[in-house]
Amino acid sequence: MQDPNTYKLLTPGPLTTSLTVRTEMLVDRCTWDKDYKDMTQEVRSSLLELAHADPKEYTTVLMQGSGTFGVESVLSSIPGENDCVLVLVNGAYTERMCQILTYHRIHFKRLDFAWDSIPDAKEVEEFLKVNPDVTMVAMVHSETTTGILNDIAAVGAVVKAAGKTFIVDAMSSFGGVDINVPEIGIDFLVSSANKCIQGVPGFSFIIARIEKLMASKGNARSLSLDLYDQWRVMEKDGGKWRFTSPTHVVAAFHRAISELKEEGGIAVRNARYAKCNQMLRDGMKELGFEAYIDASHQGPIITTFFYPENANFTFAGMYDYLKTHGYVIYPGKLTERDTFRLGNIGEIYESDVERVLAIFKDYLNEVNHA
Ligand SMILES: *Cc1c(COP(=O)(O)O)cnc(C)c1O
Repeated sequence: MQDPNTYKLLTPGPLTTSLTVRTEMLVDRCTWDKDYKDMTQEVRSSLLELAHADPKEYTTVLMQGSGTFGVESVLSSIPGENDCVLVLVNGAYTERMCQILTYHRIHFKRLDFAWDSIPDAKEVEEFLKVNPDVTMVAMVHSETTTGILNDIAAVGAVVKAAGKTFIVDAMSSFGGVDINVPEIGIDFLVSSANKCIQGVPGFSFIIARIEKLMASKGNARSLSLDLYDQWRVMEKDGGKWRFTSPTHVVAAFHRAISELKEEGGIAVRNARYAKCNQMLRDGMKELGFEAYIDASHQGPIITTFFYPENANFTFAGMYDYLKTHGYVIYPGKLTERDTFRLGNIGEIYESDVERVLAIFKDYLNEVNHA
């Protein structure tokens, strides 16, 4: 079959998936049939393996909806009445965590960091010392707003030492950056189908420490996002989802996991992402585009660039030019300055980056001679 895609996505989820992943969705599957439940169970155990987690200590819960539904499921199901969550804010996705906690009237505190810098473990340690009411700490790993890669290992160490629960949104890194969940001391990790595993959108997943998940029974503030109950049904019924499951999406994801293994696993995928990201940063710099995050904290997933100082430049013009030539880019998400973003996850290879850079060059030539 010829790939019906007419352009590739330089957006970090949804992203460009392989034709073979999309082809899995041509089959209609029955949710209570053993074949489908087995597929769900295989997905759950593969995710644990990717997280280096022991099934005696950790479990995987799949949750309908986009990534935010997974984050909201954890934040609204895990804290009890006497808990207080500390959110380490350095981007839009931790701002969203605060919003979720506000909606559910859950006690929380925030520790703010500049969006172009990573949360400092030492500062977190100090904060925990003087705020003994805090029982849980939540942060983002790859902050897709800016492209910065936060140091979850350093923060995890101080959170563990203080005996707190550690919640990590690893939405745009899990599967593309190796994360040793038990070693870092993560209790709840959230990611979704349409990011580095390279599936299509439709569900999120939570790698959860069983002991803490069980202790949260009865804490959920929402029926459909009740993490404990979702897990209970999946366990009891051998892979049965509590409510209608996104069968096509799960089948595509099942395939995407085998393609990750075929590629060589997380290390090899990470090397591809890192190489493409480096080429993009270097090539764009040569064309005069300055990156927002400095090289030492730049993650391999997505890069934020400032608009060029060119009177004829418009984002809409550049967007259209690139789309016409086969690539779709992403607007920026910063408020203080005009930026745009280029993601390089999904079916994006070095040859794509070379092509994209050539298109940017042609576009700039055209603008300069307008
Ligand atoms: C994609 C993403 C989310 C979830 O966003 P949705 O639009 O709900 O899928 C959350 N956090 C981060 C860091 C993300 O990249």
